[in-house]
Amino acid sequence: MLRLQIKNIIKESGLTVTKIRVKVLSVFMQSMKPMTLQSINKLINDLDRVTLFRVLSIFEERKIIHSFVIDHNKCYALCSYECNDDHNCHKHIHFKCDDCHEVSCLSVVSFPQIVAKNHIINNLNINASGKCANCII
Ligand SMILES: [Zn+2]
Ligand SMILES: [Zn+2]
Ligand SMILES: [Zn+2]
Repeated sequence: MLRLQIKNIIKESGLTVTKIRVKVLSVFMQSMKPMTLQSINKLINDLDRVTLFRVLSIFEERKIIHSFVIDHNKCYALCSYECNDDHNCHKHIHFKCDDCHEVSCLSVVSFPQIVAKNHIINNLNINASGKCANCII
């Protein structure tokens, strides 16, 4: 079931289904949280970094995943439906817990709209830190 779903996501993005792409996407589907290149690489141990990087770049280009930098670490995360809403990708913030250091894509009640004189803002990245739901208890 999951495999079929993965193949469909790749196809719907206009990409050819390859073994490597299925493998990389399945890692994202299984973890459901942002990962660094190193942690993805650990989960797919028989792939060289260049190939992995290329797959990630094309996934990002097709908006299957998005990337961001938090605490000097580049992370990759699966895009959700709201992510690609009206082409303003990523109307959510990126959160790192001070206690467990877990990074997550976090939906917010209202994503701020920022207006700057003589500029068009297409993308707004917000990083936040604090305590996650698990660590508050
Ligand atoms: Zn996204
Ligand atoms: Zn935490
Ligand atoms: Zn995100």
